[in-house]
Amino acid sequence: MIEVVCADITTLEVDAIVNAANTTLLGGGGVDGAIHAAAGPVLQDYCRTLNGCRTGEAKLTPGFDLPARHIIHTVGPVWKGGGHYEKSLLTACYKNSFEVALRNGVRTIAFPAISTGVYGYPKQQATEVALSVMLDYEDRFARIIACCFNDRDAELYRSALLAVRSRQ
Ligand code: ADP
Repeated sequence: MIEVVCADITTLEVDAIVNAANTTLLGGGGVDGAIHAAAGPVLQDYCRTLNGCRTGEAKLTPGFDLPARHIIHTVGPVWKGGGHYEKSLLTACYKNSFEVALRNGVRTIAFPAISTGVYGYPKQQATEVALSVMLDYEDRFARIIACCFNDRDAELYRSALLAVRSRQ
């Protein structure tokens, strides 16, 4: 089941939350900064052992002080106008995060809107990418949460979800 929720992702009680990380995996701004702050400094120590993460790939860590058991760190593409494989890289982020989740027994998972902050991916297009992969994996999870940070983003997800459901 896909749910659209308006929340701070660090507060969600799920098996895994996904982090929109950067290639260093050592923390940054936006949702990444919030997750590192809430998980505690031991997350950065753990991430140092992972040798970073390529754009489109995903790596698992414990959730440490978070209510979530795991964090799946994925690196979204920086938007460069759309002609630099942004769509396939963003699709890979969602797919690889789901695959890591399945390999680790995750049944409930929450995603932020990857790449739509400082990385500048147009929100409508990013929403369509996110939902299309979520629909592909819907049957394999108990809950898939699209965690939006404000009402406008949540509305975007809700109307896009209604549109795809009506075509199903
Ligand atoms: P990126 O670098 O991938 O663009 P950002 O963190 O800048 O990542 O933004 C990604 C999305 O995460 C944005 O839509 C932003 O509003 C949202 N966001 C920021 N903080 C949080 C949070 N604590 N919980 C959920 N979403 C958040």
